[in-house]
Amino acid sequence: MSRQSLAGQLSRCSINTATLGHRQPLETIIEQVASLGFGWIAPWRRELEGRAPLTIARQIRDAGLRVSSYCRSTYIPSSDARTFAANLDDNRRAIEQAAQLGAESFVMVVGGMPEGSRDLPGAREQVREGLASLLEHAQQMDLPLALEPLHPMYAADRSCLSTLAQALDLCEQLEPSDSRYLGVAVDAYHCWWDPDLHLQIARAGAQRRLLGLHVCDWLVPTRDLLLDRGMMGDGVIDLAGLRHAMEDAGYRGPVEVEIFSFNNWWQRDPLEVLHTCAERLQSHC
Ligand code: ZN
Repeated sequence: MSRQSLAGQLSRCSINTATLGHRQPLETIIEQVASLGFGWIAPWRRELEGRAPLTIARQIRDAGLRVSSYCRSTYIPSSDARTFAANLDDNRRAIEQAAQLGAESFVMVVGGMPEGSRDLPGAREQVREGLASLLEHAQQMDLPLALEPLHPMYAADRSCLSTLAQALDLCEQLEPSDSRYLGVAVDAYHCWWDPDLHLQIARAGAQRRLLGLHVCDWLVPTRDLLLDRGMMGDGVIDLAGLRHAMEDAGYRGPVEVEIFSFNNWWQRDPLEVLHTCAERLQSHC
């Protein structure tokens, strides 16, 4: 198995637009990402508001880019049936947009417990039920769903899905024989601490469920639970080791940079951020 660095391979790398702090129109970001030589981009739903997905898809293609993933789902669990149904409808619309964009997958951040609830198993059951329904839509749209487990510190409010093992259990349960439309996105920030990380990556790979690799770094100390992600190389994650484990398990998709950093990278010039991403991907990933 190759142990190459990403030097000279930016065509294999993707920029998740959240990395730039959602400060510019998507059209500008597409041009900037392409101008630095990246091969892929991962837009967010809010950036498509008021735009025709097919028009954006054409602009992305014309810029020489592909869409690594489309971010992200509306949280599924709710305290009442009507909102639960509305959440699923919202996700169905987003899955259609993802298909129109030609995205490799739609990223599912499944949500935590409804406000005021203390029923974590109940939230997980709603997620299972909701995903079973969305999976049918994904099959119709021919668009895979990438379940993204989040670090357990978000279990209450963002994702009751916390580990790769848990996500893969769900995949196996909902799509037992054919693994074409349900898989996982492995985000370094959420998964790096997991003692089972490499085992679960191998398990996912054997089932052809590795749909994405998101990179950033874990800063010590981390000053904000959400918005203090580090640039690759500034923290403690063995990012090259993670990528190699993914590739050993059969992953051939892009390496996507996703950095939420309110006080640092989101305050800097977007082109400086992109140049730094390019450099660190090649030296630290
Ligand atoms: Zn991610």
